[in-house]
Amino acid sequence: MISLERVSKTYGTGPRAVQALSDIDLQVPKGTIHGVIGLSGAGKSTLIRCVNLLERPTTGRVIVDGAELTAMSASDLRQARHQCGMIFQHFNLLTNRTVFDNVALPLELMRESRRTIRERVMPLLEMTGLTDKRHQYPAQLSGGQKQRVAIARALASRPKVLLCDEATSALDPQTTTSILALLQEINQQLGLTILLITHEMEVVKSICHRVGLISGGRLVEEADVGDFFTAP
Ligand code: ADP
Ligand code: ADP
Repeated sequence: MISLERVSKTYGTGPRAVQALSDIDLQVPKGTIHGVIGLSGAGKSTLIRCVNLLERPTTGRVIVDGAELTAMSASDLRQARHQCGMIFQHFNLLTNRTVFDNVALPLELMRESRRTIRERVMPLLEMTGLTDKRHQYPAQLSGGQKQRVAIARALASRPKVLLCDEATSALDPQTTTSILALLQEINQQLGLTILLITHEMEVVKSICHRVGLISGGRLVEEADVGDFFTAP
């Protein structure tokens, strides 16, 4: 579903250039949850942002659901990005919009009708346990509720892939557990492919099928989660 082929990313040029990713090869099969773990500065955030081309790789190919994003025109890319929902550590909600209107945002951008928007948003609010909160604003919500809004918003365009950028790093352990359970439900019930990056072992252990370790911009190890954590 997601395929990165020899992806490299350099920020800047000349003596101040930073090689953030080097020759990343990554395959994430349809319907799986794949984790990439690494220390701060290892290149995790750059890696996940290269999947939907929020960052453009300097070299290499990115293919999502059979379409090569790195070969697309800007307008095709805008369309293709609807295949990739994304959630972030700090939620990135719009503070002046209600819960409903935050979730509706991608559909408004796709110029869906008010009726379609309502038909799509209400079930997502139900699934994420936010129906009663739909009139509230982000400032009135807990961290976990905000992340639920962000998840519902990420799903609004019916993506095939969900990208999670340190999605639980700002949450307490109990809230983390409930958000991870929701991601697992989304994987199992909607069949979404999930790629997540994290610096937290527990996240990877609890929901990932397969794990990669990134260090100095290179994927240095990859294994099924059971093998990855087996003591030598
Ligand atoms: P991680 O998410 O694992 O902390 P990042 O992908 O954020 O790692 O960063 C990888 C490397 O790229 C680091 O050395 C970081 O300083 C550098 N980097 C990240 N973003 C930029 C940027 N916009 N401009 C220059 N260097 C960057
Ligand atoms: P209530 O009857 O309590 O106002 P509704 O279920 O009618 O609740 O609406 C819930 C929220 O959804 C409201 O904030 C409303 O503004 C919003 N809403 C309903 N339909 C749409 C739509 N088509 N587009 C955008 N927002 C909508």
